[in-house]
Amino acid sequence: MGRERAVEFYGDYHTHTNYSDAKQGLIDIVEAARNRGLKEVAITDHGPLAAVIGVSNPNSYLKLKEEINLINEEYDDIKVLLGAEANIRNIEGDLDIPPYIIKELDILIAGLHPYTLPTSIKAGVKIFLQNSLRHLGKGCYEKAVKNNTQAVIAAMKNNPSLDILAHPGLFFKLDIAEVAQVAVKERVLFEINCGHEYPKISDIMEADKYGINFIVNSDAHLSSTVGDFSYAKRIIKKLNLDEARIVNSSARGGYKTWVKN
Ligand SMILES: [Zn+2]
Ligand SMILES: [Zn+2]
Repeated sequence: MGRERAVEFYGDYHTHTNYSDAKQGLIDIVEAARNRGLKEVAITDHGPLAAVIGVSNPNSYLKLKEEINLINEEYDDIKVLLGAEANIRNIEGDLDIPPYIIKELDILIAGLHPYTLPTSIKAGVKIFLQNSLRHLGKGCYEKAVKNNTQAVIAAMKNNPSLDILAHPGLFFKLDIAEVAQVAVKERVLFEINCGHEYPKISDIMEADKYGINFIVNSDAHLSSTVGDFSYAKRIIKKLNLDEARIVNSSARGGYKTWVKN
């Protein structure tokens, strides 16, 4: 009891279905979340402009919404939410989900992903090519970090309905201190992504210094990992992170307490 009590979680707000790059169907996620005792689960398929992993068409989210509405009518022990994991496409922070879809979503996540279609060739060079050259030397590495950081900061500033920054630093290195300070100001949550086991503990410690709010998600592509927060639980214990700063801890309640829209 007391200090030794492990954090319990209200919901998992980052999962994928067979509308994007997972095999599991919507109902598999809902059943897995119920089995874990979660009260909320969000379906957040990849935006359409990341090759292979994205939904085939933005209207897929509208189809998902219809299916989710039917499930919500049927179950009273869990609330299913519609979200999206948008791709950041350039250093201006543009996303690959159109506004008419964003307004239908309960939750908006965004992150940098490889193989995203940039808005232009120039944008592609600045982020995606530069990032792939980062191992070529200190100059290239620093340029990549600078551009990636700029893209993520712009995404947070220019998309007022952005709730969550997905797996900060995964695939694309970031200046965590800069990102964390803007995230605090823009009320964007810093994700502890258990599927990718990312960010690493040093980056979580760095972000924590600025008083950021965290959200713990599975990023499940398999129903067996929905609500599996082992990675975050280890880190929370090790760093003795304040439960009040983890927005999806049971103590804080559901998504309505932190969602922007
Ligand atoms: Zn992702
Ligand atoms: Zn994801």
